[in-house]
Amino acid sequence: MNIPCVTYSERAILLNLTCSVRVILLIAALIGSAGLTCVCADDAVDPGTLKHLTGHWYVSQAEPATYYYKDAELYLDLFSYHRKDSNKDGIDNLVLSHNETHLIMDSQGYPNHPTAIFPNSGNPNRIEIQKFRFQLPLEPKLNDHITRLPMGPIGTAVNGVVYFNPFEQGGMNAVEGYSEVWLDSCCGHPQQTGVYHYHKYPVCVKSPFKDNGKQHSPVIGFAFDGFPIYGPYESEGLMAKDAVGEQTLDACNGHTDSVRGYHYHVTPGRFPYIIGGYAGVPEPANIRGRRGLETGAIEDNSSGESSQPKVIAAVRPANGQPGTKQKLEIELDPTQATRVRVPEGTPEWVQVGPYEAVPIERKGNMLQVEIQIPEDATLGVLMDCHIEFKAADRPRAVFKRNDVFRVVEVEDP
Ligand SMILES: [Zn+2]
Ligand SMILES: [Zn+2]
Repeated sequence: MNIPCVTYSERAILLNLTCSVRVILLIAALIGSAGLTCVCADDAVDPGTLKHLTGHWYVSQAEPATYYYKDAELYLDLFSYHRKDSNKDGIDNLVLSHNETHLIMDSQGYPNHPTAIFPNSGNPNRIEIQKFRFQLPLEPKLNDHITRLPMGPIGTAVNGVVYFNPFEQGGMNAVEGYSEVWLDSCCGHPQQTGVYHYHKYPVCVKSPFKDNGKQHSPVIGFAFDGFPIYGPYESEGLMAKDAVGEQTLDACNGHTDSVRGYHYHVTPGRFPYIIGGYAGVPEPANIRGRRGLETGAIEDNSSGESSQPKVIAAVRPANGQPGTKQKLEIELDPTQATRVRVPEGTPEWVQVGPYEAVPIERKGNMLQVEIQIPEDATLGVLMDCHIEFKAADRPRAVFKRNDVFRVVEVEDP
């Protein structure tokens, strides 16, 4: 029985259905999951059976083609887990092909992990299915200058959901400071045309191998110049943001090593969070308003304290271990609710990072919840928590708190 598989993919499908249908589907999904195992992308492939495209890219000779990215000595199937039709509209979320020069990703931009239900009191938009076509240069080329990141999509996670730069329309930092916006526990939200996007390291995107902080992180996506974006770790116990000397990250959040070449890292808790500019030549086909991209890395303009209401006063304990059920106590402080009041009763949904909390109980201002932490959880990275209250006649009341929980191998006191 592998419940995390269900919670990874099923909420997205359930979003637009009525409550009773959702319950039936959820039960069906739970029953169905009894015989399920997670797709593990680290199943070893025989490199001799693969065709080398160019650069780091390889493709299987069998149909349908599976694309592999050579990451150091590993041949990684980055995409198969994400190619499913998770919104059940008859079209796979992600369809891959290639030509001489590019990997082509046709993506619905649809999150295949739990998200908040939008619209809600933190965001008036809803998540819409997109028709994206991304073209990633198979052989990315470093440029002689940094290209300024545009607004809108700047790259794509391996699930086909887009990364944005750290700024909202209006140019303010979406991630921290007084202009912080409401992102769900998977670090995303939709904009006006329904594009769900990440402004910081999305802990919910299933990566090709377990990111346990004991080696260089896996590839989690690509910038639109074709260079890969890796998770936070550079080596055992060292996040790339803390690397010094030759491995110090540049203004784009990138550095070079002998096996990976130039590559970017996400930097949890530190601007620019994902990438700070294109070090390579960006593929123009991917970029909206293609002409006139400026030069130079972006700069942090955040200031002051976040103005997000501090309704979630505390989450205890602050860590849990992989492969365990973890009880959590979430303390609410309704006096902090400035935008929308805290409803009476039990929240309909509580999420910590990618993990849905079930069951949920409320006594006064204390929530008692339980999350199932999978064996392959990403270790050591701080995750956010959000809660949602159901409402029929007004936007769902949503609250969140950042950086409240992490999965660790050995329990901290
Ligand atoms: Zn945004
Ligand atoms: Zn690195």
